Amino acid sequence: MLVKRNAASSLDKIQAIVNQCDRCGACLSVCPVYADNHRETAVARGKLATVRAMIEGGITADSKIVTAFEFCLLCKACTENCPSKVKTDEVMIEARQYTAEKLGRRIKHQFIAVLLGNNVLIRLTAGTLKLSRKAGLNGLLRSVVPIEHTKNHFQEMAMGPAAFPSFPELTRPKMPHHARIAYFQGCAMKMFFPAASQATMKLLNKTAEVITSESVCCGMPQLVHGMANQAYTLAKKNIVSFANVDRIITDCASCGSSLKEYGHRLAADPQWAERAQEFSQKVMGLSEYLYEIDYQPNRKSALKVTYHDPCHLVRGQGIKKQPRELLKRVAEYVEMPQADKCCGGAGTFYLDFPETAQNILAEKVKNIKGTDVDVVVTECPACLMQLAKGKQQSGYFEVMHISQVLGMEFSSTLEGGLTSNMCLSGKQVFSCQTHTNQLIICQKIISNNG
Ligand code: SF4
Ligand code: SF4
Repeated sequence: MLVKRNAASSLDKIQAIVNQCDRCGACLSVCPVYADNHRETAVARGKLATVRAMIEGGITADSKIVTAFEFCLLCKACTENCPSKVKTDEVMIEARQYTAEKLGRRIKHQFIAVLLGNNVLIRLTAGTLKLSRKAGLNGLLRSVVPIEHTKNHFQEMAMGPAAFPSFPELTRPKMPHHARIAYFQGCAMKMFFPAASQATMKLLNKTAEVITSESVCCGMPQLVHGMANQAYTLAKKNIVSFANVDRIITDCASCGSSLKEYGHRLAADPQWAERAQEFSQKVMGLSEYLYEIDYQPNRKSALKVTYHDPCHLVRGQGIKKQPRELLKRVAEYVEMPQADKCCGGAGTFYLDFPETAQNILAEKVKNIKGTDVDVVVTECPACLMQLAKGKQQSGYFEVMHISQVLGMEFSSTLEGGLTSNMCLSGKQVFSCQTHTNQLIICQKIISNNG
């Protein structure tokens, strides 16, 4: 049974949260989208005032209000900095649900929901992207399709690393304290970052017996675009699929945040509340899990790395020190300023508001460049796409998922995203299949590994 929803209930649910705002303005200094356009309707205080006016009947929802609610990264920076801890991101999710039920949903958001809600379509998309890359069509398409830079970048990312490999056969040492773990492979990791997924599986296989479970989309894209019932349906499928494992590990920050919220989202559904709560308690992010089991890599490379905190990891799940401590075990670590500030990716935000996303990204790139690192590491596919765009524009650093950096100790990991060649002096060097300046990194790996 689904939890019944209607437009009025969405606003009723958030009235108490909205009323917590005392209009102090502390959120103005931390909101990335307000910093870009300085409009009151962009910041939490203004968004909450708009919702309050709708609740009180002073204004009715229209297309401008829909856009104002969509103009939010859901990054939680306002909540973190708010003296009253007003959950503006939660308010925005419910307000979007309200306007979607009143005014309808955008076609592109419905398309994304349909695609991500169907594993057959995801496999078809991933397979098509893999074939396109192998056939060299990614470069051809970029030269003949006149698209603006964000979509161009998105296409490059989609056409570049996409593949859908089967996971390798590995020996699987048992973990005494977590006998059965499962890998939750999110849709974006499946479609766009299979090499990082492979690296995650190798890491997990090194720590425990990994149970194969068929996952569906975590439901986050549907939830944030006013399709809560579809999100709940997906949540229930995942709860059933992962019923018999002790831990559910995901290498996608957004998936992790979404999965950990199942207990909260389904709390009002008597048939699912308890199971949802149990499910959420089993979920861990990859770095959270590896840190908890005190994962110790066999080798340390000469790489210099920094870490970008995905919003859904640092504020959504409170995971901050774990990835940094792990990275210090495999590389030289340098902290960048404002590492936990949103990169502007934020799900589909960078497609909906490319100019603002680009301006937010430019700040992030400036901070990365200031560290003079080889690699910026993160743990979220949306951040990987956005940061890779920054890398393309600046050319100064490489972008990698944390599983790929931690997994460098497995020589075979290099095969997941890199190809090997002989250099002029007869040594084996590696270059990236999709990027051009990875050589420096690979030389460092080689010099370190002898
Ligand atoms: S910081 Fe919190 S209480 Fe203050 S204006 Fe912003 S949302 Fe309202
Ligand atoms: S969630 Fe982020 S983008 Fe949205 S209002 Fe809060 S600080 Fe601004």
